Amino acid sequence: MRKAQLKKYAKLIVKTGLNVKKGQTVFVAAGLDQPDFITMVVEECYKAGASEVFVEWSHQPVSKLNAQYRTLESLSHLTPWEKAKWEFKANNYSCRLFIESSDPDGMNGVDQEKMSKARQATYPEIKPFRQQMENRHQWCIAAVPGKAWAKKVFPSLSESKAVEAMWQAILHASRADSKNPIKAWKEHNSDFRARCDYLNGLGLKYLEYKSANGTDLTVELLPDGVFTGGIEKTLKGRAFNPNIPTEEVFTSPKAGGAEGIVYSSKPLSYMGELIDNFSLRFENGKVVEVKAEQGEALLQKMVSMDEGAGKLGECALIPYDSPINQSGVLFYNTLFDENACCHFAVGHGFNECLKGFEKMTDEEIKARGINDSMIHVDFMIGTADMSIVGIKENGERVQIFKNGGWAF
Ligand code: ZN
Repeated sequence: MRKAQLKKYAKLIVKTGLNVKKGQTVFVAAGLDQPDFITMVVEECYKAGASEVFVEWSHQPVSKLNAQYRTLESLSHLTPWEKAKWEFKANNYSCRLFIESSDPDGMNGVDQEKMSKARQATYPEIKPFRQQMENRHQWCIAAVPGKAWAKKVFPSLSESKAVEAMWQAILHASRADSKNPIKAWKEHNSDFRARCDYLNGLGLKYLEYKSANGTDLTVELLPDGVFTGGIEKTLKGRAFNPNIPTEEVFTSPKAGGAEGIVYSSKPLSYMGELIDNFSLRFENGKVVEVKAEQGEALLQKMVSMDEGAGKLGECALIPYDSPINQSGVLFYNTLFDENACCHFAVGHGFNECLKGFEKMTDEEIKARGINDSMIHVDFMIGTADMSIVGIKENGERVQIFKNGGWAF
């Protein structure tokens, strides 16, 4: 990939993604895959006025060895060093950037049972730090090609050609392959704004999903719920784009308000394994039955992780002809694949999808109907013929999606 274009991408991540301002501190988490690009990002951060940029490097094969050799007991607590790091991160950095590049198969062979138990055990220790940072930090996730990831996506190409093809795919999906990516994102963000304003003005009570594959699901929305997309804001009002790319307009539905059945339209990669051709049946908002041609036991385990794992945390609306879906590339990575078409997530919802959340405690937010869980797993349900009808309190129906795309 041409260096000039990569510089534009680095600038997009720093200016539009994080929106780094003078005097801010930036924490960057990155793999060892594209150190030259990370260097460009760090330089853009300083050019934008950052006072300190810290890069925490990781290497997936090392993470794998830790997962394999450490005992469940050892993995079940944060070490004092890890705890101090979380604390320092929460208190001292105002921007956090995650650069994704890992191999989707890189953790294969790791005992998933052990890892999910360890995650359950450490979650209460990590949760307060996460909560402290939520809506206070600007953050962004973007991606660069790792060699193994590129080979997985483009198996027929040589390693160097696969990496190049992957750069192109990432930049195209991220609307970063044009002359002026920052301008392209301004337009993208204003399109999100207009759609969210329209949806929020309708005062919808339900979304009714229908598709020829059998999907027939009614999802209840929160009376104070909001649709959002693109730009998010910190409590202090600083704008940032948490995901590059993003194509979704989304909301968190009412936990406990879904009836019917939904069929997957793409395979789901969960804990390094594939769950394919599956359905979830909901009663009173909770999954009561799962079926899958592949990975049914894992799917069952996923929705049983905790009380909220079998309830919806997100409804995302994405036209079936999104750039990612049109490219036909399967990235084996949620950041990209979730932007291909409409999806739901089971597990925790988003506080910012509730009006006035800033003044509420976690208990209040939960009581208002935002789902709470240790997991948040997206799965694709969008089809070319998908219809979504919004239903108002008085029964009035508004077509939201028609033939897989926006109806307005
Ligand atoms: Zn989503």
